[in-house]
Amino acid sequence: MLLEVRDLHVEFRTRDGVARAVNGVDCAVDAGETLAVLGESGSGKSVTAQAVMGILDTPPARITGGRILFRGQDLLTVRAEERRRIRGAGMAMIFQDALSALNPVMTVGDQLAEMFVVHRGMRKKDARARAVELMDRVRIPAAAQRARDHPHQFSGGMRQRIMIAMALALEPALVIADEPTTALDVTVQAQVMDLLAELRREYRMGLILITHDLGVVADVADRIAVMYAGRIVESAPVRDLYKLPAHPYTRGLLDSVPRLDRKGRRLDAVRGLPPNLTRIPPGCAFHPRCPMARDVCRTEEPPLYEVAAGRGSACHFFRECLDDRDH
Ligand code: SF4
Repeated sequence: MLLEVRDLHVEFRTRDGVARAVNGVDCAVDAGETLAVLGESGSGKSVTAQAVMGILDTPPARITGGRILFRGQDLLTVRAEERRRIRGAGMAMIFQDALSALNPVMTVGDQLAEMFVVHRGMRKKDARARAVELMDRVRIPAAAQRARDHPHQFSGGMRQRIMIAMALALEPALVIADEPTTALDVTVQAQVMDLLAELRREYRMGLILITHDLGVVADVADRIAVMYAGRIVESAPVRDLYKLPAHPYTRGLLDSVPRLDRKGRRLDAVRGLPPNLTRIPPGCAFHPRCPMARDVCRTEEPPLYEVAAGRGSACHFFRECLDDRDH
């Protein structure tokens, strides 16, 4: 397995107290596989990704438990220098906001070329040629010419392609894309997702897609992990989850996505707001928003029940959810 996250816990100290941002997350992704991690803002999906990448703000963020195994090595126990080396050679991240992630005063060609000079020891001329090749690979028209432009001279979609090129430059085994298309319009979103899916196949990399939008990942992900209040509440192969969700929260998220096969359906968003992470409700954290909640939900936290092989749901009543096929 390329990456395994086991029982990960992350806390933040805030003025309101300790925020339990990640509460026992388990997930895994293999080479050539795409895992989508889905949830509303504050669900812990980005914090999980940052913990894997080693870019949590410290302080106040603190990993308080768990294991992050990359090719079998626990990144939380190896020495800092070794950890940096493993991450630097094997992982890359694509951020939501390409404009703030790129250097505004350097041409994009120079930024890309610098990676090859610094990390691969290439000569400047060869590094520049490699940068243009890569820009061409992520389908930036007239790449040789555009390599001389600065980030602000590109459209949002083209900037995101440059971010993808930067992430792929050193051919990482794992790429984490945090809301990579949120700032883009729908057509450009689809193009960028298609490009990511194609490059994932070509480079046989593991891809973790962090998103709040189920619609974005339907065609590209193999598996989905749905997060709520710092936990994975449903984990399933993408087709199974779409066909028949096993958790009321997933069902609510699905109902808020326009789908051709559900013509005439009301687009229900999940009612209410995610909890304050310094005061996560007892029992099932979703109970104040759940249309199926009963007394037991207010007192007993559901474990991740095995729904089927490779499929889990943290809902006491997942069977009822599955039986409600007409929903
Ligand atoms: Fe809803 Fe109860 Fe299931 Fe939680 S355990 S999702 S509150 S039915």
